[in-house]
Amino acid sequence: MQSIYLDNNATTKMAPEVLEAMLPYLSENYGNPSSMHRMGAKAGAAIKDARERISAFLHCRESELIFTGTGTESNNLAIRGVLESSPGKTHIVASKVEHSSVLNVYTRMERLGYRVTLLDVDLDGIIDLDQLEESLTEDTALVSIMFANNETGVLSPMQTVVELVKARGIPLLADAVQAVGKAPIDLSALEIDLLSFSGHKFHGPKGIGGLFIRRGTRIRPMMLGGSQEKGIRAGTENIAFIAGTAKACELAEQHFEHMQTETKRLRDKFESHALAVIPGSRRNGHPDERLPNTSNVSFGGIEGESILLLLDEMGICASTGSACASGAIEPSHVLKAMGRTEDEARRAVRFSLSRYTTEDEIDFTLRELPPIIERLRNDAPTIIPEE
Ligand code: PLP
Repeated sequence: MQSIYLDNNATTKMAPEVLEAMLPYLSENYGNPSSMHRMGAKAGAAIKDARERISAFLHCRESELIFTGTGTESNNLAIRGVLESSPGKTHIVASKVEHSSVLNVYTRMERLGYRVTLLDVDLDGIIDLDQLEESLTEDTALVSIMFANNETGVLSPMQTVVELVKARGIPLLADAVQAVGKAPIDLSALEIDLLSFSGHKFHGPKGIGGLFIRRGTRIRPMMLGGSQEKGIRAGTENIAFIAGTAKACELAEQHFEHMQTETKRLRDKFESHALAVIPGSRRNGHPDERLPNTSNVSFGGIEGESILLLLDEMGICASTGSACASGAIEPSHVLKAMGRTEDEARRAVRFSLSRYTTEDEIDFTLRELPPIIERLRNDAPTIIPEE
């Protein structure tokens, strides 16, 4: 049976062109860029070339880009690196809907004595800007606001966030792991100080991340060792994956229009049909301020996990929310922050498309989903669907 993959916020299929760009560095070009000989020079040139292309894609300087192992590592490096470089300041701010690779670092920092403010979001998942402004003090060392949410796709009002935070001279981290390749990002126009991303979320390989660090930002390295990545992230570079990420950026640029129009059209078709034909279904997330590929819907009366199992039997891969949280029974912290009850949060299913998603796949999913919901509701007749 062929899989219909609608879980692209968890990870994406690697583009064939990306694999092709990586293969030479997994075979004949195996030099270490720190070596003085020609093999080393070849590897060094590949990294330089990739850095040039990725920084052009993000509209930043090459010297502002550091390669890491994952998006998680980029967030850890940004938060811990900035806090260690600003001793004396003990207050940090983030939103309640950040990814665990931000929230869990904040929890650790709280145990180490930092005061943490977690900002509310409204029913549509948009952060409370008044609360952000009120929270900033002379003591604030860092603000971390995600560019786009992994569960709902909701976009943060980044321009306003930048204006509020930069007016106070406070460093701003944007977790853009879900946004890169799906939303326009121009770091020459948007004055974010640190921005994290991850190759596998936009058809690059898994196990490669990046961190943009704006010139002048104070940061202490977390990984100590050699002088790779300007000493900010020691360790022999993953040249093949870096080259693959550059190719993935290039492809994302080429297909950007397709994502904003065709992928969005398919997402909207899916969502509007599903909401119309399935009683008691409800969208989670702002209708417009959203990534073009993401649809998060709660189906009244049924747990998301039961729906996923039956979808999987039909070859359709979706998710209950963040991939990292599935497997755990905990309802989504994102949906709870958006005012959903625990039961409502457990009823959510996330469908995330990619540029490879076809109309046939969406039509098939739209045919299969309503009877699955009906069957589950008939199996559980005591549960009354919500309005
Ligand atoms: N931040 C967000 C918003 C994510 O969605 C993810 C992954 O799901 C990460 C960070 C972590 O990225 P990685 O899987 O590369 O560690």
